[in-house]
Amino acid sequence: QGYTACSKLLILCTLSSGGLVAYSESHPDTGTPGVDPNQKELKKKRVLVLGTGWAATSFLKDLDASLYDIQVVSPRNYFAFTPLLPSVTCGTVEARSIVEPIRNIVKKRRGEVNFWEAECLKIDAANKKVLCRSKIENNLVGNREFSLEYDYLVVAVGAQVNTFNTPGVEENCHFLKEVEDCQKIRRTVIDCFETAILPHLTEEERKRNLHFVIVGGGPTGVEFAAELHDFFEEDLSNLYSTVKDLVKITVIQSGDHILNTYDERISSFAEQKFNRDGIDVQTGCRVVSVSDKEVTMKLKAKGEVCSIPHGLVVWSTGVGTRPVVKDFMEQIGQGNRRVLATDEWLRVKGYKDAYAIGDCATIDQRKIMEDISSIFKAADKDNSGTLTVREFKEVIDDMIIRYPQVDLYLQNNHLSGVTDLLKDPDGHDREEVDIEQFKLAFSHVDSQMKSLPATAQVAAQQGAYLSRCFNRQQQSQDNPEGPRRFRGSGRHKFRPFRYKHFGQFAPLGGDQAAAELPGDWVSVGHSTQWLWYSVYASKQVSWRTRMLVVSDWTRRFIFGRDSSRI
Ligand code: FAD
Repeated sequence: QGYTACSKLLILCTLSSGGLVAYSESHPDTGTPGVDPNQKELKKKRVLVLGTGWAATSFLKDLDASLYDIQVVSPRNYFAFTPLLPSVTCGTVEARSIVEPIRNIVKKRRGEVNFWEAECLKIDAANKKVLCRSKIENNLVGNREFSLEYDYLVVAVGAQVNTFNTPGVEENCHFLKEVEDCQKIRRTVIDCFETAILPHLTEEERKRNLHFVIVGGGPTGVEFAAELHDFFEEDLSNLYSTVKDLVKITVIQSGDHILNTYDERISSFAEQKFNRDGIDVQTGCRVVSVSDKEVTMKLKAKGEVCSIPHGLVVWSTGVGTRPVVKDFMEQIGQGNRRVLATDEWLRVKGYKDAYAIGDCATIDQRKIMEDISSIFKAADKDNSGTLTVREFKEVIDDMIIRYPQVDLYLQNNHLSGVTDLLKDPDGHDREEVDIEQFKLAFSHVDSQMKSLPATAQVAAQQGAYLSRCFNRQQQSQDNPEGPRRFRGSGRHKFRPFRYKHFGQFAPLGGDQAAAELPGDWVSVGHSTQWLWYSVYASKQVSWRTRMLVVSDWTRRFIFGRDSSRI
């Protein structure tokens, strides 16, 4: 019953956060100069979107394109369903099955959307322009550089691989970020096997070619290791039987456990499964350099340095900020930050008329504790230093509205320290709550609160939220006094962005998966893998890709994976 309810929840729920949204500022219309104001034809505002990933696509899908002059710039003329990228590395699904041309997606809009396949090189914040260059390399004629002006800028360029400046990583490692990366990995895996069976190789050389090293024990690294293991066990071991005993897969993780952002039960299930499958998990190791032949790492506990030979290394240790975003941050006074900061309405801090969504941005939390004091002050009307339980609950509600992270904590039952205040030591309901105690409990939660995770779920919800903001712009212009208080008197009429966490999966190979679902609910095993299939099939952006993905899975069940090197 649990599985059924949960799968229904995951399949049916949309990635939108719900609720009314609008701006807290009005944006005056720029009339055409020299035109009689009475007959003035309103010029459409120019919205420039950077990117065609999860955040941008979700924004474009829901945006009422008849209201704006919309332009989209991205070096990729397609949307890629990134959760299935690890499956592309071993041919479980084909690359073309998980991509949808962006022109297909935007042509269904009510108005026109112009797409330019180019990379944004620089955002000129002062002049509201972006400089772009086409990345297509061929002998076609024409200037590849151009600039575009905007009234509103939506930055959704995602993040780039983070190598932590580790020597040799750029040159010798594979990444698992783009579709092309996965195609390259697929070819290299086959190369490793084809090379390993060549005559006249020493045993040591064969072993080196067949040692696959994955740096990073997060969800992507773990999923790739599991895919590779399945590919080898189910398909390659029969085809390359003479070298099958020499194959080794190693996962190197700097933390104490793999999947350490998941529930402990999932993390230990994954470790046990990998142990049974013969996947070597090296925890507490930091990679210090990678050469074309060896990975050198430092064992954190002992401080020892050791090297292991490799045939292929996949680097999957997290993401960093793109240079174009770094440069923009410097222009707008955010140079000292790591990620572009926005407020809860996803407006870029320190720069009017720009919004940032997805992996390239984070909602600024530094103000949270400052705000808490004013929330208390407003709630404690008689200055008694206590709140009634009803007032207490209202304060929690208010914080949830302002800070999505609080909600995430509540959903994951991490706020017990705060909600415990509602009971006295004997477990009876209190009538009043002490504000100082409450502040203390909340500061504990605040210190644990992390930024929203860099996931497709967050990016898609932010895109959908922002499109609703844009679609309701007229409504915000009709309320130029600024948003009405959400409850009582206050700052905003409409809800800020609020993230809804629908859970996360970790496929572990052998048709088993683990899932962490809202409400501290964990499920592992074969049935979870079927839940994974149904969720990911349902989340495809089009019926075309849905059909292709399902038929790829069916093909794999019947015929196995294709091991040709093309
Ligand atoms: P992206 O989807 O990366 O899109 C960025 C877009 O910006 C791209 O179109 C890119 O071409 C474009 N761009 C880049 N530079 C420029 C530029 N200079 N100018 C213009 N455009 C530019 N999340 C989950 O929730 N569940 C999962 O199971 C999951 N699995 C994952 C597996 C893998 C292998 C990877 C790599 C990620 C996975 N994620 C998953 C994370 C998820 O993919 C990201 O969080 C999500 O893609 C972020 O969306 P985004 O729109 O911010 O960035």
